[in-house]
Amino acid sequence: MPKHTIVLIPGDGIGPEVTAATQKVLDAAGFSVEWVPLPAGARALEEGFDDVLPQRTIAAIKAHKVALKGPVTTPVGKGFTSVNVQLRKKLNLYAAVRPVRSLAGVKTRYENVEMVIIRENTEGLYSGIENEVVPGVVTSLKVATEVACTRIARYAFRFATKRHRKKITVFHKANIMKLTDGLFLSSARRIHEDEYPNIEYEEVIIDAGCMKIIQDPTRLDVLLMENLYGDLVSDLCAGLVGGLGVVPGSNIGEDAAVFEAVHGSAPDIAGKGIANPLALIMSAEMMLHHIGEHQIAERICKAYDAVLAEGKTLTKDLGGNASTDQFATAIIEKLA
Ligand code: ATP
Repeated sequence: MPKHTIVLIPGDGIGPEVTAATQKVLDAAGFSVEWVPLPAGARALEEGFDDVLPQRTIAAIKAHKVALKGPVTTPVGKGFTSVNVQLRKKLNLYAAVRPVRSLAGVKTRYENVEMVIIRENTEGLYSGIENEVVPGVVTSLKVATEVACTRIARYAFRFATKRHRKKITVFHKANIMKLTDGLFLSSARRIHEDEYPNIEYEEVIIDAGCMKIIQDPTRLDVLLMENLYGDLVSDLCAGLVGGLGVVPGSNIGEDAAVFEAVHGSAPDIAGKGIANPLALIMSAEMMLHHIGEHQIAERICKAYDAVLAEGKTLTKDLGGNASTDQFATAIIEKLA
């Protein structure tokens, strides 16, 4: 009998391709799992469910506590609300954790980047509260609650302590959004002063923060920010270490966790077999640590590090011409 039961959401766009490659790598590494494949997004409608986020998918994640998820497209403008946002809200996955690190063999302008972005995942401008005041005038409400601001701050400090990280930097715009970002800041400051005075703490206005990232990302350690800033800064930081193909993520709540790459469904390259599966493989590595399978996680990490360092089998985004499958196979060869 498999040791773990994990919900698998292949998603759409490049999702099914990178998910299949990731499953292959996990299987070759000896991960004992029963996958529970379930749909979300447009695929759920195609499979006959009446909702883009079927109750069955939510219930399965609640029951099994862990899911590995490919990207799910959210159309721009009109249409259904983002499946990703709904999922995070319904399961109360309040912390997005996104490690961004330089990889040997992946040449970029920067070396020795080793940051972690911790993004509040449930409120801010992602609350989706928008309305038309009168024709031609629309608003979007940014929501901040003390409960959510305190919860994410405490998560970030606990994370920094456990991982022996030295500093937390909060990115904010409290000079303009005095109430919402002001609450985010005062909550983080309070947790620092009352509970984690040993972790170094700094507050940086986000525009200056983005400049600092580009000037010298090695000076940054753990970055803490609200929802929208976290979305933008994640892609910015991905650019420092080789792009969206190499940045993993997890969405953590009290009762469940969903592991997914930072990238979206990349429709421009979907179906071509050229997507880089590494971001999802790295997300799966985070999942393995989460469920206590540290050895398998470390083996997978060593294997892909070796493939990257060798530089012979790289996907197009990293300057090579290997397919998704060839890249996964190269990792599997290193595992052997
Ligand atoms: P979303 O808004 O859905 O989060 P995004 O803005 O992050 O999406 P993506 O769809 O992730 O955008 O991708 C942006 C571009 O980056 C893609 O068009 C693609 O060219 C590239 N890209 C993203 N992920 C990968 C990947 N795994 N492998 C190769 N290229 C990728």
